[in-house]
Amino acid sequence: MGVDVIIIGAGVVGLSAAIAAQARGLSVLVLDRQGPAAGASAGNAGAFAFSDILPLASPGILRQAPKWLLDPLGPLSVPPAYALQIAPWMYRFWRACSPSRVSAATAAQTALMDLSKAELEPFLAATGTTSMLRKDGNLQVYESDAEFRSSLAGWKVREAHGIDFSHLHAEDMAAIQPGLAPRFTRGTFTPGWYSISDPKIYTLALADSFRSNGGVIETGEVTRLQPDETGVDVTCADGIARRAGQVVLCAGAFSHRIARTIGDRIPLETERGYNTTLPSDSFDLRTQITFGGHGFVVTRLSSGIRVGGAVELGGLTLPPNFRRSEAMMKKAKSFLPGLKSEGGVQWMGFRPSLPDSLPAIGRAGGTSRVIYAFGHGHLGLTQSAGTARLVADLLTDRPPALNVAAFAPGRF
Ligand SMILES: Cc1cc2nc3c(=O)[nH]c(=O)nc-3n(C[C@H](O)[C@H](O)[C@H](O)COP(=O)(O)OP(=O)(O)OC[C@H]3O[C@@H](n4cnc5c(N)ncnc54)[C@H](O)[C@@H]3O)c2cc1C
Repeated sequence: MGVDVIIIGAGVVGLSAAIAAQARGLSVLVLDRQGPAAGASAGNAGAFAFSDILPLASPGILRQAPKWLLDPLGPLSVPPAYALQIAPWMYRFWRACSPSRVSAATAAQTALMDLSKAELEPFLAATGTTSMLRKDGNLQVYESDAEFRSSLAGWKVREAHGIDFSHLHAEDMAAIQPGLAPRFTRGTFTPGWYSISDPKIYTLALADSFRSNGGVIETGEVTRLQPDETGVDVTCADGIARRAGQVVLCAGAFSHRIARTIGDRIPLETERGYNTTLPSDSFDLRTQITFGGHGFVVTRLSSGIRVGGAVELGGLTLPPNFRRSEAMMKKAKSFLPGLKSEGGVQWMGFRPSLPDSLPAIGRAGGTSRVIYAFGHGHLGLTQSAGTARLVADLLTDRPPALNVAAFAPGRF
């Protein structure tokens, strides 16, 4: 037997799980085909969006989608070359938008958010990363009273789940964030929305913390899992096989390919997202701003000002279309007239997304020795500490900190 646990994927979810497993006294090896912070965890918007409890799969998105889809560079797009492949996922997404499923998903998401928020600060303290946490809140802005009013139903649901926020007029918004274009007449400020100073530096710091406690990270592209009665063989593209008592699959948007080798067909797709990171002095940003009607956010990171978002349902192999980042930058410049939009670095990343907007956290279909922890969509950073806690509970056969039935990988 090699180690107690092999974790596949050194993104924020895999490394957080590795650290939580290590803290329970297990010997842990992390395998990644490229090394730490190679995927979505490096380039995201850095938000701990704890108030984002409403699933993306909801009647609201169905109302917005037709308008968004008309603009090929808008907040939501389906490249024609991928339309057929994504159709079954979209059908499942549509089915998840029924009122009863939305309310069940909201309850599940709230529980995972609450756990993740409770776990976060102790986790940061244990990994020496507390100084990277920012508590600057989030300002969601609206261009009209009508847009503001249509958001109120969602804020009522958040209020019912104990989330703190305040609705604002333009003059109060200017006190929080000067420099917004006058077209934004209303806003909502959420103080309990945190962020990390830089998601890539944070993920690399988790890798360092894991290694400094004796953890090992190796490079290898996993192609196959073979569980048996006493453990799991993990085979890589170079033919080398490693063995562990248990395996945790955290390969982000690529996880379903590995799950298939043990007979599980998980409808994981990717919502590709784009961003541009500008030099730090490009804008005096005091809080994260969400332009919800346009599907993007602007975030202050230690590495610069990041303008990012959009959802492109384009699969894992089509080349990126950076005209999407350019279209977002053009809008950002008109929404924040003082923004200096030169000198940006563009990026595209794969959000790992399941059709009901909930992650898969739980045991594989045919074996209790493989645990899945992937599919966190827009919220992988936000839910990383809570997911890590649940994975550690499952690995050590403790009752999970919350009921994981809603996250069962076999629910589709
Ligand atoms: C534009 C954008 C903005 C976002 N903003 C936010 C935000 O503000 N807040 C938030 O919470 N979330 C945000 N997200 C989502 C978040 O980034 C993801 O949910 C999260 O990073 C997923 O983490 P992960 O560890 O599951 O996957 P990843 O970070 O993608 O890591 C998966 C790892 O698996 C490895 N891997 C893949 N296949 C194999 C294989 N066969 N063998 C070995 N290794 C393999 C990869 O190399 C990679 O390192 C955003 C995403 C995007 C795209």
